[in-house]
Amino acid sequence: MATKTFDAVVIGAGPGGYVAAIRLAQLGKKTALVEKEALGGVCLNWGCVPSKALIAAANLVEEVRGAADRGILVDAPRVDVAKLRAFKDAVVKKLVGGVGQLEKGNGVEVVKGTAKFVGRNAVEVKGADGEATRLEAAAFIVATGARPVEIPGFAFDGKDVWSAKEAVDLREVPKRLVCIGAGVIGMELGTVYAKLGSQVTYVEALPQILTGIDPEAVRLVQKGVRQRGGTVLVNAKAKGFERKDGALAVQVEVDGKPQELACDKILVGVGFRPNSEGLGLEEAGVEIGPKGFPVVDAQLRTKVPSIFVIGDLAGPPFLAHKGFKEGEIAAEVIAGMKSARDWVAMPGAIFTDPEIATVGLSEEEARTQGYDPIVGKFAFAALGRALAIDHTEGFVKVIGDRESKLLLGVTMCGPEASDLVAEAALALEMGAYLEDVALTVHAHPTLPEAFMEACKAALGEAIHALNRPERPRKAEAGSAARA
Ligand code: NAD
Repeated sequence: MATKTFDAVVIGAGPGGYVAAIRLAQLGKKTALVEKEALGGVCLNWGCVPSKALIAAANLVEEVRGAADRGILVDAPRVDVAKLRAFKDAVVKKLVGGVGQLEKGNGVEVVKGTAKFVGRNAVEVKGADGEATRLEAAAFIVATGARPVEIPGFAFDGKDVWSAKEAVDLREVPKRLVCIGAGVIGMELGTVYAKLGSQVTYVEALPQILTGIDPEAVRLVQKGVRQRGGTVLVNAKAKGFERKDGALAVQVEVDGKPQELACDKILVGVGFRPNSEGLGLEEAGVEIGPKGFPVVDAQLRTKVPSIFVIGDLAGPPFLAHKGFKEGEIAAEVIAGMKSARDWVAMPGAIFTDPEIATVGLSEEEARTQGYDPIVGKFAFAALGRALAIDHTEGFVKVIGDRESKLLLGVTMCGPEASDLVAEAALALEMGAYLEDVALTVHAHPTLPEAFMEACKAALGEAIHALNRPERPRKAEAGSAARA
């Protein structure tokens, strides 16, 4: 067996791994990047990027449908599924190719195959041809990611039961789609299919879709579902399905009562589990936590000093940009730099309609952390730009500390929220006060003005909305009534 020696070896070329390899090479480390499938991992190949290509196309379909409201008269749009798929595939191909060029340009050696630890400083990589190569290094970064959870009765078969992978592949637009799990994947991809013409039913086990998200934002997403003829079932458990009369019959229990949903395809999006098996991590001495995620410290180092774990494999939140950041951190630690997981702001963006973006603390989290929060809100309906583009749904809500006026968190729901959140992330990372944002001149007419106005509103200084005196919170209301 051939043996090659590197300063560092990265396993997995998704957002965490490919970035880690580039950063290691930049820092002068002789680096190998091992990948068994395509460069770019889930995010580039069947996650973030292709889904956003489909979401943008589906949004366009809906815009065209609604164009008559603005005096643009067009025939009802029809979707050429094969052409849309080809567009999406071309986007993926371009980005995957770009990653390959970046690795090569930085001097990273890409090794194709499946890696397994055979010690604390060596892995064996088995190629598709069965040939094995031993890679030795002082440091390893494991970035093998996570995969969709399967639930009993709904094994992914790629035909009737889809994971996000098949849903993003867009082979057809089913007449009726049942999404089991109304989390991020169910809601994002369900919305795509609804806009392309499917009748979508969302089956969610918990009392709310998009658990953890501001209920006010969730209500707007649910309104959109209804407007597209979709149905949301909460407190609903999917029990199984059968093939019946050329279609599928999904058995669900809603609030304990059995119900049957007829459909043509089933999309299951009920969470991710780590790809930690088969890597020889435990044998090498890495401690695996109760949910299967390897245990790491703030520098992403496992119990074995030469082995680092990053990205989805290091645990939630499962966000590509968290993987990017952790890849950089681990590479820098390996190169002897003082780097750690010490971010203030980790933004999240959900590409539903309307979009939802969050960063920092919610009002509830601020309270739990001992702050006395003040809230400022600005509705897109009052914003010139939002009216001009005919997307007035939603709001920006900012949370600040009442005493110091420090900005603590932001929730945005509405047009381009996924882009708008970047300014809020920068503000939080720089320790901005509400005043810092409120006093910053924002170009007019633009959507980011909503963030500025929300900060002004929190200070009681909104210009384009009436400053209403804060309603006392329940406990205070009670004491006032007693007084
Ligand atoms: P999720 O955790 O977002 O949602 C899963 C949902 O399924 C939950 O609401 C859960 O209550 C529900 N559920 C679980 N078991 C169920 C059952 N038997 N019947 C009905 N409902 C059930 O998971 P996901 O949507 O699969 O996404 C996986 C991960 O990928 C998440 O962490 C998500 O945040 C991430 N992701 C992020 C983005 C983004 O940031 N835009 C996009 C896609 C995925």
